[in-house]
Amino acid sequence: MKRIALFPGSFDPFTNGHFDIVIRSLSLFDEVVIAVGYNTSKKRYFDVELISTKIKAVFADYANVSVEIYNELTSEFAKKKGARFLLRGLRNTTDFEYENGISQVNKHLNPELETIFLITSPQYAAISSSIIRELHKYGADTSAFLPYSL
Ligand code: ADP
Repeated sequence: MKRIALFPGSFDPFTNGHFDIVIRSLSLFDEVVIAVGYNTSKKRYFDVELISTKIKAVFADYANVSVEIYNELTSEFAKKKGARFLLRGLRNTTDFEYENGISQVNKHLNPELETIFLITSPQYAAISSSIIRELHKYGADTSAFLPYSL
């Protein structure tokens, strides 16, 4: 049975921190599906189609990484994709508090779904999508933080 992981997130935008999590997870999983979603509590800054296209180009040479847009419960979408694992990243205790909550709910909704957390690589610990949005809004160069150009 293939080990398929769904990596769900807003990815608004997808950063070098996210890229690092995907690359490192490839030693654990046969396939990773990056699922670009709509977090109902966050209004998007970057268009979901634009970001998905950019991520697809980044992973063009990786046959085992795919990118999807979804707009439903993550646990339902994981089932549809045949994913038994949810992949998430942790930078700090704030992430932990948030991730702990969602992973418990996802486990309740789909008991067969295991959330696997990878701790951020130290060089990416300070990168957040919200900082990139702020830089972009004021016209600053974001290229050091992203695996593609915006
Ligand atoms: P969401 O809106 O679902 O929280 P994000 O796009 O903000 O989605 O983040 C997706 C996942 O990536 C989350 O688990 C988040 O903690 C993790 N993440 C974000 N930035 C980093 C980083 N620099 N290093 C490692 N993990 C990260």
